[in-house]
Amino acid sequence: MLLKSYTKEISRPACNPSFQSLHCIAHLDQDIGEVLPYLNASLGGFEYLKDPPAVTFRTQGKIITVHPREIAVNALRDEQEADKIVEWMKREINETWEKRDEITPRYEGAPKPKVFEILKLLPKTNCRECGFPTCMVFAAKIAEGAKGSEDCPALEGEKSEKLKDYMSGFRFDY
Ligand code: SF4
Repeated sequence: MLLKSYTKEISRPACNPSFQSLHCIAHLDQDIGEVLPYLNASLGGFEYLKDPPAVTFRTQGKIITVHPREIAVNALRDEQEADKIVEWMKREINETWEKRDEITPRYEGAPKPKVFEILKLLPKTNCRECGFPTCMVFAAKIAEGAKGSEDCPALEGEKSEKLKDYMSGFRFDY
C-alpha cells in the first residue's frame, strides 16, 4: 500500500468565513509523487503539472488537487463529505499504484468538454432560472465541472439524458 495514513485539516475560506462551504487538506504521511502520472491517466485529470507534480480533478462543483504530500478539496458541504472524498481518493491512489504496470502514465490534462457542445443541448432561452444570466455562462460552468445538467430546471427529457451522456465521458463519481 502506497498511502497508508494522513492527517485531515478542515477550514473555512479565509476570504469569507461566513461561506457555507469547507476546505479540506489531507497531509499525507507517505510521499505519493510517483503515482501522480498514473492517477492522472486512470481518472482523467483536468490539469497536470510536472514540476512540482500535481494533478487536479474537477467534479460535482469541487476541485480536488493531489500533490505528493497533500490532497486538497474545496467546496465541501460538511466534514462527512470531506471524509468520503479523501477516503475514496486514498483507495484510488492505492489501486492505481497496484496496477501501475498496466497503465501508461500521462503528463498532461485530459481532453476537456466543449462549451458549444453543451450549449447545443441546453434550452437556450436565457431564462435565468439556474441563477446565471445566459445559457452560455451556464454551459461554461458545466464544462468546468462547477455545475451539472440537473442544475438547469428547464432541461428535461431526451436532451437532459444526452447532456448526462456527453458529460459522463469527462467526470467520475466518488
Ligand atoms: S435555467 Fe437552463 S435554460 Fe434557463 S438560463 Fe439557465 S441554462 Fe439556460
